[in-house]
Amino acid sequence: MAEQRNNNRWNWEVSGFEPRKLSSSSSTASSFDHDDYKPGAPLVRRYSISAASALAQSELSNHSVTSKLQKLKDQVKLAREDYLELRQEANQFALETQARISPLINEKRRLFNDLLTAKGNIKKYCRARPLFEDEGSSIVEYPDDYNIRVNTGDDALSNPKKDFELDRVYGPHVGQAELFRDVQPLVQSALDGYNVSIFAYGQTNSGKTHTMEGSSHDRGLYARSFEELFDLANSDSTSTSRFKFSVTVFELYNEQIRDLLPESGDALPKIRMGSPDSFVELVQEKVDNPLDFSKVLKDAFQSRGNDPSKFNVSHLIITIHICYNNLITGENTYSKLSLVDLAGSEGLIAEDDSSERVTDLLHVMKSLSRMFG
Ligand code: ADP
Repeated sequence: MAEQRNNNRWNWEVSGFEPRKLSSSSSTASSFDHDDYKPGAPLVRRYSISAASALAQSELSNHSVTSKLQKLKDQVKLAREDYLELRQEANQFALETQARISPLINEKRRLFNDLLTAKGNIKKYCRARPLFEDEGSSIVEYPDDYNIRVNTGDDALSNPKKDFELDRVYGPHVGQAELFRDVQPLVQSALDGYNVSIFAYGQTNSGKTHTMEGSSHDRGLYARSFEELFDLANSDSTSTSRFKFSVTVFELYNEQIRDLLPESGDALPKIRMGSPDSFVELVQEKVDNPLDFSKVLKDAFQSRGNDPSKFNVSHLIITIHICYNNLITGENTYSKLSLVDLAGSEGLIAEDDSSERVTDLLHVMKSLSRMFG
């Protein structure tokens, strides 16, 4: 026996079993007192324990575990209080900072838009597609990034080649990504709270749908624009401000509006587009990410049907509705980015069109621009 009982008390006066002398040089441990232990300090041997003393010893250690547990609970409580206080301070700091930067952000948006529209609110870009095999040789040249030279073939003219100047000209070699680089600032402007409309105009087969819709491996402006909006919104959102997007899709065919999104129970309320005296109500679908967006478009294209002859005479209008809400400044903005694949221009105006038909067309164009404005 390593210890003997004496008057119900433990007596350690047994040779070879001395009470622990507090010595930092000892490095082995069979048991240790948690209260004495300092993290990082070597564990010190306290007592040797025989099997017979185990029960009483465990009662003691139960007591010390309970009190240690209580101590830890108290410490956790204090740490949690500190954490909550710090978090509150951090939130307060974030709110104050946001209130300070908000006017600067608005000023930046305004200046960016001023810069974009310095040369006018309307920009005209021209894109030429590669020639099909059966189309013979090209009659256009691209002297620089802003001019396109068309050979009219009119030998009666001293110079049958005519130059047209635009805000930008893209030759047949220019891909979707490069074209989008010039569209990106317009997308930024839409996110900044300005209404933006992009129209694809040209004859049937000139490349309007390719430019707007593209294909799954060579995406056009619809997908690229939404992805850009989504990325910009993510980098601009904070814990107290956020963007929300929804989409409407309709077709203008024979001067009739046809909503291409199906009504469903859980959809957002219909959205009104146009002026108070002339408007349409359209189904809007909430889109939270690029995948949602492409799914909505897919559904819309499906309900549009698959009749290419109709595409040449109908306009397709996709609008991304952008809502911005700032909880600190109470600022709410709403803007639209509309992407329009117009009917083939040959179906809109022919050289021998009556003035009535031209007036009709102008009327359609005016209604569209009022809707987006
Ligand atoms: P539109 O919509 O004006 O009637 P499309 O976009 O359908 O014309 O284009 C007609 C054809 O030309 C399609 O087969 C399309 O893939 C092709 N095409 C159009 N633009 C380009 C381009 N920039 N590069 C390659 N192919 C193109």
